[in-house]
Amino acid sequence: MQKLNRNMALLLSLLMMLTLCLPAAGFAAAGVYEGSGDSLIGGVDAITVQVTLDEADAIIGIEVILNNDTPGISDPAIAGIPAAIVEYQSIEVDAIAGATMTSDAIVAAVEAALVAAGVNVDNYKVEVVKEVVKEADVEMEADVVIIGAGGAGLAAAVTAHQNGASVIVLEKLNKVGGNTILAGGALNAVDDRSEVAVANDDSVEWHYTQTMNGGDNEGDTLLVHTLVSNAWDGVQWLKELGMGFQEGTFTVTGGMWPRAHKPSDPVGTGFFKTYMNYIDNNENIEVMLNTTADEITVDADGRIGGVIATGETGNTIAVKANNGVIVATGGFAKNVEMRVEHNTIWADLGESVLSTNHTGATGDGIVMAEAVGANLVQMGNIQLLPLGDPVTGSLSGNIEQDVEKRIFINKEGNRFVDEGERRDVMTSALFEQTDNYMWIVVDSHSYPTGDVKNNFNESADELVAAGRAVKGETIEELAENMGVPVENLVAAVEDFNAHVETKEADAFGRTLYSEKLDMGPFYAGARVPTVHHTMGGIQINVDAQVLNVNGDVIPGLYAAGEVTGGIHGTNRLGGNALTDILVFGRIAGESAAESK
Ligand code: ADP
Repeated sequence: MQKLNRNMALLLSLLMMLTLCLPAAGFAAAGVYEGSGDSLIGGVDAITVQVTLDEADAIIGIEVILNNDTPGISDPAIAGIPAAIVEYQSIEVDAIAGATMTSDAIVAAVEAALVAAGVNVDNYKVEVVKEVVKEADVEMEADVVIIGAGGAGLAAAVTAHQNGASVIVLEKLNKVGGNTILAGGALNAVDDRSEVAVANDDSVEWHYTQTMNGGDNEGDTLLVHTLVSNAWDGVQWLKELGMGFQEGTFTVTGGMWPRAHKPSDPVGTGFFKTYMNYIDNNENIEVMLNTTADEITVDADGRIGGVIATGETGNTIAVKANNGVIVATGGFAKNVEMRVEHNTIWADLGESVLSTNHTGATGDGIVMAEAVGANLVQMGNIQLLPLGDPVTGSLSGNIEQDVEKRIFINKEGNRFVDEGERRDVMTSALFEQTDNYMWIVVDSHSYPTGDVKNNFNESADELVAAGRAVKGETIEELAENMGVPVENLVAAVEDFNAHVETKEADAFGRTLYSEKLDMGPFYAGARVPTVHHTMGGIQINVDAQVLNVNGDVIPGLYAAGEVTGGIHGTNRLGGNALTDILVFGRIAGESAAESK
């Protein structure tokens, strides 16, 4: 009894202390409170915010003071989520499409700050009811109307404008960038006369041959020729517009040769900085966000007349195109129904197979163009990568730096494929492994220090801290942290290193080597198959004019980028997508401006 009383007294004094520290219910917690949230991209405590509360506990300000998510991609969430929380006094706000992980991390950080403030968090979980007032319908006009503000759309927009056209770009999301901004940033281009090409034994001709072979010769020879012979000129054009590239070239996964150029800015952000800088500083060229194109219209004379779109508030936006319409809406990797309908290569591309793609990759342009007579080609050619994040399918978190410096290891601790192979070959091999799951293993040749970053602006240390990669000072320790048999991984690495020395093809046929895996610490990151690129689509000619089912040009209709088909055949070389959208985006822009 006495003991119970003593415990009760202790409990009471504890409660009193707590009451003194926390603001009591009904009392204001005015002040600034800090909180952090995790993100799958930036890892533990990726986002830190400072939340300002007034005397009535209203949130009057949110400042993001730390952001470890990918710059460019996280920007719309950083701009939109704090403002929405303040506006609605609720953390139940909608995530920003395309930046959902950063959105969730900001919400988690704000919640942590509210907990720190000692207020009742439930009071901030009110349903957000947005009042949408439908704006008046709008009629507009431009020489060139472009659907989609991704890589192809904006290359076309700038080029059309440089060729004297007025330009309107319609983008259904609340940001520019599409899939292109998520790309690893590898852009294949060869300058025959350069020292790099000579040193690498590369040429435009070899780029052509590898592109054709890589797609089992299903690619259109004229389009592939156009692709490779205009690639270097495209890079020069980007540089003239102010875009920076790193020195030298590298081999991207499935790229087959060291001809990929890497932009100075992370992932695909450099393209959009460059294009938006041009667009923001010029007249008669604009991007309309939150504007979804629904239909391409045809004039009485059979020429394409313009686009009917839906604005943010549900109003109709009709844009007349004096010269032409360019479809640049990207692929359909995020449209499960479409990919299941068209897939001819893979056993199954249903919900269970993840995708690297952004939410907007739903094939809208293919449907709209087909409705006005466009011919669709090679729709079954869908590319998977063996490089998806096991949770999200995204490319982020990929620990590899160069094809030459990494190996793939299955759950049994063994290698299983030539890691320099075509993407379809590597992905098919991965589908044969336990749980369709593998590790990419690298050493300190790839990460001389833990703060060296991958192509997605994530350092090795950050990936390890976030649980997205494991580390070991020795191969044995790495194997233990991966949960694979130590003796198998040791044997696999020893065999690999022996071949690096001789440079001879190994049992899997691998011939691309540079450094041995012999410099600790070692790192491994898990990966699964993921839908990456839809290579079929709208048929175009070398002027990016859309062809109908009879092979005739549809007057006034152009297409460029992933929405088109027939360039990459059955399998696209790594690094050729950015080349495709750059080269054909520019051609479409020029053709439409000149109304070819
Ligand atoms: P590409 O690599 O071929 O340029 P991206 O995926 O980078 O393709 O860009 C395509 C863009 O088109 C994306 O930003 C996407 O949101 C946009 N888009 C797709 N469908 C529509 C549509 N119906 N209306 C407007 N924009 C669209």
